[in-house]
Amino acid sequence: MLELRPNCECCDCDLPPGSAEAMICSFECTFCRSCVDGVLGGKCPNCGGEFVRRPVRPAGKLSKFPPSTVRKFKPEGCAQRQ
Ligand SMILES: [Zn+2]
Ligand SMILES: [Zn+2]
Repeated sequence: MLELRPNCECCDCDLPPGSAEAMICSFECTFCRSCVDGVLGGKCPNCGGEFVRRPVRPAGKLSKFPPSTVRKFKPEGCAQRQ
């Protein structure tokens, strides 16, 4: 089951389970769409993998299958070092 992490690792914006802006890689590294399209260039800075849009979990399932509350954030910045 997806963790549904609550924020973008890059800019720390909120990504609630109903957000259409959340993007994940195959390891569930989670970022917002604007970071993926912008600073990340469509590539996960942690694993180098591609992103897909995170599916929205139906609101009725959230009480039984709650999203993660653990915020992951890279305070040193998430831009790929060239
Ligand atoms: Zn972001
Ligand atoms: Zn990744």
